[in-house]
Amino acid sequence: MTTAHPPRAADPRRRVPRTDAVLAEPELVAAAARLGRDRVKRAVAAAQQRARDGVIDPSGVAADALAALPAAATGIRPVLNASGVLLHTNIGRAPLSEAAVAALGTAAGTCDVELDLATGARGVRGASAVEALRRAVPGAGAAWVANNGAAALALVCAALAGTGREIVISRGQLVEIGDGFRIPELIESTGARLRPVGTTNRTHLRDYADAVGPDTAFLLAVHPSNFVQRGFVSEVSVRELAGLGPPVVADIGSGLLAPHPLLPDEPDAAGTLAAGADLVTASGDKLLGGPQAGLVLGGGDRGTDLVERVRRFPLARAVRVDKLTLAALEASVAGPPTPVREFLDADPAALRARADALAADLAGAGIEAAAVDTAAGVGGGGAPGVELPSAAVALPERYAAALRAADPPVLGRVADGRCLLDLRALPPSADEALARAVRSVRGG
Ligand SMILES: *Cc1c(COP(=O)(O)O)cnc(C)c1O
Repeated sequence: MTTAHPPRAADPRRRVPRTDAVLAEPELVAAAARLGRDRVKRAVAAAQQRARDGVIDPSGVAADALAALPAAATGIRPVLNASGVLLHTNIGRAPLSEAAVAALGTAAGTCDVELDLATGARGVRGASAVEALRRAVPGAGAAWVANNGAAALALVCAALAGTGREIVISRGQLVEIGDGFRIPELIESTGARLRPVGTTNRTHLRDYADAVGPDTAFLLAVHPSNFVQRGFVSEVSVRELAGLGPPVVADIGSGLLAPHPLLPDEPDAAGTLAAGADLVTASGDKLLGGPQAGLVLGGGDRGTDLVERVRRFPLARAVRVDKLTLAALEASVAGPPTPVREFLDADPAALRARADALAADLAGAGIEAAAVDTAAGVGGGGAPGVELPSAAVALPERYAAALRAADPPVLGRVADGRCLLDLRALPPSADEALARAVRSVRGG
């Protein structure tokens, strides 16, 4: 080819590889399969421009494009939870078990979520997940799943009281759950009327009894899951409320299905139904350890009928869960123990041994690290005040910000001028990645 002003052979612009040639590199073919060809092409074009501008060598275009591309087609990045908070809402609450992740993969394609393969007719949506819940919660005659705990509660209120009927609730249970959302406002948004009884610190059975009348739809017990009241306080138990006559709905919050010895004050679904609640609502991604979901469990004949009313209510269609949630929920309820369960059951001595090993390893690499005993917490608006004995690797405070920028990012917690990497909410299999992340930001 002849041009009027041929560039000199040393001009890097002559050596910038053609787009097709770069896109044919095996690593970029793989990236295109992962991320889409358009996105990869844009990265290649940007790298070619950098080569023309002399910022990089033309031989490095493919590598430069590859380095600019993310590992996955989602902008959401996995974060190592070294915060010592088991359920951290900002990082997605409960991590799923491998069994639940595998179930997500199974349900991701077309699947029999609502098809009876024997007859070829429409089946009960998520029947196996509902069955797993009923088996896991003795006393649950019926179950239904909504998008989250708030949706489950709102749906129950709308279906049973949305025509302006009254929901009787203790003043001590008019709680704000997080990010400015308040249970009483959520309930009133459904058209139901709240009938608060008692006082902030003390409510008695006679307060409820006095409020019950022809307009009463149900009595609502909301577990104050993100705060504790101490001192001159009293609330009425679900068992006592059940004796008053109207249906009792209990929002237990955390989704603990059966009692846990470390969480004596946390109500569980089976125990709450056994105490006489007709309906229990709960989250799927708190202590249950599953995906974001809202459970509605019905006990006894009346509760079973109420679940059917809730399920048939028009709003139910607007808050129904997808097949992925149903699959992951079933695997979390019926499969091997969830990560959250394993974090709860972790032996503090084993946590300390992991912290000792990590600290020794990092100190060996010249990093100022020490193992310390700590207190972890449940979080996610659950089990307030409960301290779970734990262990952490303590680093200089500056590591906290640097580790959030690491790959993968690590969320620690800052206390007393140190960055603590708490091991209670991390599986042992993550220790190596944690150490690698610390080494990668040392001095950063
Ligand atoms: C967390 C919580 C909710 C809200 O549940 P989400 O699943 O977050 O929507 C409602 N009530 C109580 C008591 C809770 O603890």
